[in-house]
Amino acid sequence: MSYYALVPAAGGGARMGADIPKQYLSLLGRPLIWHTLATLCAVPELKRVFVVIARDDEQWDGFDWSAFAGRLELLRCGGATRSESVCNGLKQLQTQVDADDWVLVHDAARVCVTVEQVSTLIDEIGNDPVGGLLAVPVADTLKRADAGERGNARSEATVPRDDLWQAQTPQMFRFALLLDALEYAPGVTDEASAIEALRLKPRLVAADATNFKVTYPLDLHLAEIILRDRNTL
Ligand code: C5P
Repeated sequence: MSYYALVPAAGGGARMGADIPKQYLSLLGRPLIWHTLATLCAVPELKRVFVVIARDDEQWDGFDWSAFAGRLELLRCGGATRSESVCNGLKQLQTQVDADDWVLVHDAARVCVTVEQVSTLIDEIGNDPVGGLLAVPVADTLKRADAGERGNARSEATVPRDDLWQAQTPQMFRFALLLDALEYAPGVTDEASAIEALRLKPRLVAADATNFKVTYPLDLHLAEIILRDRNTL
């Protein structure tokens, strides 16, 4: 049984408001996704790291990926949504990955993920029949907004947070189960939702808030602070 990483990186990153897809924004002198891939390529349990980019991606070839030679494989088969990109990527792997092999899907934009977090996930999931994901129990009090516009919204109710977790990635499932689940539930925003649609319960493995997804401009600064701090410790 082997472990593989699959990194969907075919999004446009509209919420970042930049001219180029967010995975290519500069972070400490490298494209953002470079840091994510560097960490995944350093995880000893992972046999290979696959990256899914858009078919019409014009940025990838402009950067130097030689540091990951032999560990990284590019798949130019991104789709219109994240789940379509993951699904297309999985279909390309059918000839080289076994049904029971594990696939760890990780957002390109979760740039601060650590080797330890990924190894902990792999360890904790072990031989679990379903699989699981990194996640963080919700700490803040949650409000449900009324129908007002974003800048004009009012709190209508407080949502009990006792059983709520924020889903992160990697999300780790066996190859055949994951492909089946994504074909059964194509409209999902993460892999765990597709597995839940099959009435299975992915395990929640506690991570921490540093594994956030770079989404808004401020996130880029936070990621820079975290990565710089690690490099100088
Ligand atoms: O847009 P969001 O931040 O939710 O995207 C999460 C991840 O999914 C990113 O790494 C993004 O590049 C990827 N994605 C993709 N194909 C899409 C949309 C998003 O691979 N069509």
